[in-house]
Amino acid sequence: MIEGVGRMNVDIFARDLMTTDVICISPEADLIDVIREMIDCNYSCMVVVENDIPVGIITERDIVRLMGKIMINKTESPVQVVNVMSVPLATITEDTTLFEALVISSTRKIRHLPVVNETGILLGLLTETDLAKAHFKIFDKQRDIIEHSVSARTQELQQANEQLRSLSMIDALTGLGNRRAMEVDLEHTHVQAVRYSRSYTVALFDIDFFKLYNDSYGHKAGDEALRLVSEHLLASIRKCDRLYRYGGEEILMLLPETSLYGALILVDRTLASFAALNIPHEKSPFGFVTMSCGVASQTEENGYDRWDGLVDLADRGLYASKNSGRNRVTIIPPEDAIDDNVPRMHGNSP
Ligand code: GH3
Ligand code: MG
Ligand code: MG
Repeated sequence: MIEGVGRMNVDIFARDLMTTDVICISPEADLIDVIREMIDCNYSCMVVVENDIPVGIITERDIVRLMGKIMINKTESPVQVVNVMSVPLATITEDTTLFEALVISSTRKIRHLPVVNETGILLGLLTETDLAKAHFKIFDKQRDIIEHSVSARTQELQQANEQLRSLSMIDALTGLGNRRAMEVDLEHTHVQAVRYSRSYTVALFDIDFFKLYNDSYGHKAGDEALRLVSEHLLASIRKCDRLYRYGGEEILMLLPETSLYGALILVDRTLASFAALNIPHEKSPFGFVTMSCGVASQTEENGYDRWDGLVDLADRGLYASKNSGRNRVTIIPPEDAIDDNVPRMHGNSP
C-alpha cells in the first residue's frame, strides 16, 4: 500500500478483489491461436508471461487496433503475440487498495491490472468489472444497513460511509483530481517510469497574488477564479496528461512521456494564454490574474528515488519564478539541482 494514502480500517485490497483464474500465454504464442481462443472462450484479455512474470497483455483493444492496421494499411498480420501485446505493463501488488487501483485504472484508462507479488510473479488480475463490483458492494452494504435496524448498526454504517467517502478522487471546488489521487498517480507513474526507463514531467502552478485577489473581490470570486484556472489548464493538456489540486491555489500537472523541453513549451504557452484572458486583478502589478510555474523531469539519466524529489524540484522552480517577477515558468535542470546553479526562466514582466 502507498504510504500515507490508505486508511487501514476502511481499506479493501487487491487481494480481496482479484480474479486468480488468469489466462496466460507466452510471448512466442501464435497470434491466430490466441485470437481463436479469445473468441471461443469469450476472454476479454490474456496476460503474456515469461517465467510466471507478466511482460505484456493482449486485450480486445489490441486486437481491434491490429485489425485496423491490417485493413487500413493493408499490412500483413504479425504471427506472434510479442508483436502485438501492450507494453509496458502497468501492474499492482496485492496490497494495493481499492482506491489506489481505481486511480490507476481511471487515470491511465486501463481495464485490466495484473496483480503481482514482490518478486513480480503473477498472482491474479483485477478488471474494471471487479473494481465496479467492489464499489457497488459498498453501496449495497450501506443500503442494507439503512434498511435494517439502523440503531444497532450505526458503527457499521459509519464505516460504509467512510469507505465510500474514501473512494472519492475528485476535488469538489475545481473538479480536478484531489491530493490523495495525485499521490497514488505519482507513486505509480514514478515506479513504472523507473522500472521501464521512461520519462515524465511535473509542472507546479500557483496563482500570483491570490490573497490580494480574495481581499479585493471576495472569497467567492476567488473560488470562481480558481475554477477558471482549472478549466484553462484542462484545455491546454492532452488526454493522457493529468491535473490535480496540489494545495489551496496550487495545481500539479503530470505529463507522462514528456521531456523537460516539451513541458517548457506547453507551460510557457499556457501561462501566456491564461494571462491573455485578462481577468482583472487591480492589486496585481500586471493588472490581471497571472500564474507562476516550476517544472521538473524524471529521465533515465536523471532519476529521483521518489516522486517527492521531483515535486520538490518543481517547487524550487516555482519559488524561483515567484522571486524573479512572477507570471513565468522556471525549469531547474537536474545538473543544476545538484550544483545549485542559476535556474532557467521563461516569462513576462509587468
Ligand atoms: P504569491 O504570488 O506569492 O503566490 O502570493 P499569494 O497571495 O498567491 O500567496 P499566499 O500563499 O500568501 O496566499 C494564497 C492565498 O490563496 C491565500 C488563500 O486565502 C487563498 N486560497 C487558497 N485556497 C483557496 C480557495 O479554495 N479559495 C479561495 N478563494 N482562496 C483560496
Ligand atoms: Mg499564490
Ligand atoms: Mg500558494
